[in-house]
Amino acid sequence: MLKNIEVNSKFWNDRQRVIKDQMIPYQWEVINDLKKIDIAVTNTGGDTSAQDSDKSYVVENFLIAAGKKQGKRGGMVFQDSDAYKWLEAAAYSLECFPDSDLQKKADELVQIIADAQESDGYLNTYFTVNEPDRKYQSLYMSHELYCAGHFIEAAVAYFKATGNKLVLEVAQKLADNIDNHFGPEEGKIHGSDGHEEIELALLRLYELTSQERYLKLAKYLLEIRGQDSEFFLKQQKNDVALGRKSLIQGLEILHKDFNAQYFQADRPVDEQVEAKGHAVRVVYLCSALALGAALSGCDKLKQSAYNYWNNIVGRRMYLTGAIGSTCHGEAFSADYDLPNDSIYGETCASVGLTFFANYMLRLNKDGVYGDVMERALYNTVLGGMNLDGKGYFYVNPLEVRPEYSKKNPGLIHVLTRRAHWFACACCPPNLARMVMSIGHYAYQCSDETNTIFADLYMANKAEFELSGNKVVIEEQTSYPWDADITFKVQEAPEQGFNFALRIPQWAQNYQVELNGTLVSDFKIEQGFLYLASPVGSGDVIKLHLDMPIDVVEANPLISADYGKVAVMRGPMVYCVEQCDNGAQLQCLHLGELKDLSGSFEQDVLEGIYQIKAQGLRRINDFALDSSLYRKATPAHYEAQEITLIPYYAWCNREEGEMRVWLNPKP
Ligand SMILES: [Zn+2]
Repeated sequence: MLKNIEVNSKFWNDRQRVIKDQMIPYQWEVINDLKKIDIAVTNTGGDTSAQDSDKSYVVENFLIAAGKKQGKRGGMVFQDSDAYKWLEAAAYSLECFPDSDLQKKADELVQIIADAQESDGYLNTYFTVNEPDRKYQSLYMSHELYCAGHFIEAAVAYFKATGNKLVLEVAQKLADNIDNHFGPEEGKIHGSDGHEEIELALLRLYELTSQERYLKLAKYLLEIRGQDSEFFLKQQKNDVALGRKSLIQGLEILHKDFNAQYFQADRPVDEQVEAKGHAVRVVYLCSALALGAALSGCDKLKQSAYNYWNNIVGRRMYLTGAIGSTCHGEAFSADYDLPNDSIYGETCASVGLTFFANYMLRLNKDGVYGDVMERALYNTVLGGMNLDGKGYFYVNPLEVRPEYSKKNPGLIHVLTRRAHWFACACCPPNLARMVMSIGHYAYQCSDETNTIFADLYMANKAEFELSGNKVVIEEQTSYPWDADITFKVQEAPEQGFNFALRIPQWAQNYQVELNGTLVSDFKIEQGFLYLASPVGSGDVIKLHLDMPIDVVEANPLISADYGKVAVMRGPMVYCVEQCDNGAQLQCLHLGELKDLSGSFEQDVLEGIYQIKAQGLRRINDFALDSSLYRKATPAHYEAQEITLIPYYAWCNREEGEMRVWLNPKP
């Protein structure tokens, strides 16, 4: 296994530093209500009265639940999860940048959370304070196990980063409380949470503690889902009969979105053949299916994970790795329905897709999973944040026009400026934990085959425990800006180890050198290059992947992209912005591939590989007083040099139009 990793990549360190310096301190102030903050309440296009916009109540709620403060609990029913997400991001931050002040704050938070835990292990400030008789009875909306899952994930990360024993004790007590209430036995609850998350968390707790009961419980919660398609409806009806109020302001208990499909509970997971309902829920479920299959060897879980994968990646994913085509229910819609402007494409959903892809790689070493992981990560996940770390997107469109977003209610969820914070603050900390833990995605290991797999390239120094032996590898590269990657094996056992390198699908040409000599005795299997002989201490392996500029097209079944082209280079999707190219971007036509060239520009957008295209702009020869339509007439064009930037870097200059899919040469 990968024991520890120091990420030295400038690309990733720049992003980690803004999260450490901007986001983590900012969110600390938010959750502690240390200053008046500016919270965007319109991120979901939904209810804007769900919360005061100047107070979060997060830590205060724990103090009230612990009896250490008087007052009224505030915020969303799932507000506790904000504390947990902060803790998890802080844990990964401490791995990258040790910081005693930050650790002291996090330790204090752990103590406050521990104080709010009930003696039987139950932990949720809403139900402890407001409705103790309603625990686990409104799982369609309560987010109790969702919050528990986020705490457990945070606890695993924080224990690994700092060795804090209390956090792990609280997590195990909480998991045991859930185990006491959910399971096949009579008298226990035969269902799960409306928002998946606990399943993955329990699997991670199992990995850390080797306690079989957590694996068993995770498997139970995955398999019980959808066995009774009316499980949530029965809980809803019971709440109505008892005259209980809705747990989320603005949403009715019997809200139209809350059907079984929305929760992936209309049928058991092994009968689910397409991605339905809330996209973040789906990919959290999928991540647990893939990791659960990898840890348990269960064929049913494996088949469910493959079914979901094939549907999402084969028919419902954007070029940028965004998922979720509609803001109504933040959900998947239909195969090939991928509108570029009214998209939802929540940042969290692409974080979840990155998890899913990573666990699929664990289940089956096939490079295609790494390709999707990079697609989601380098485009939508990173696009969810301003370069300075002070603004975040919830929704990640592939085409915007600010005036339409402001005036068309169907597009109002598509912000054209990143917001400082959100009332429903899921995306920024989710992105933070992903970026801060990026080193965990660089390698995977197999003790059985004595193999180290390089999955995601970045400069780093990594230490492994492989089949009981210590291995140390230093990796040097400027990836993702070029793909010359050098691995120096600094320490390895005498018999060496097998080394496998992922060859992305975009890399049509590649070569590998061992100690300065070109190697030809390797095999390529499922997107990985396996060196023929084990490598050992002192060996230097150099991988070169060609990273040309590519012009790509979409499957013609995607009507939104029909006849259009987009530009990619390596894992990066490119876009055009108004500030580089003028308004009316729909009038631009890209040149041919030979008309495209690029260079790394250190001074543009904090260092990007910029692409220039010798293209055309259609001359608008409609008369000034013209009508909207006329008989078709041959179009005229003028030459225009088109500037393209990586999608993740858009919206860091003046507000304006942006688009990914362009017209080809006429
Ligand atoms: Zn989110």
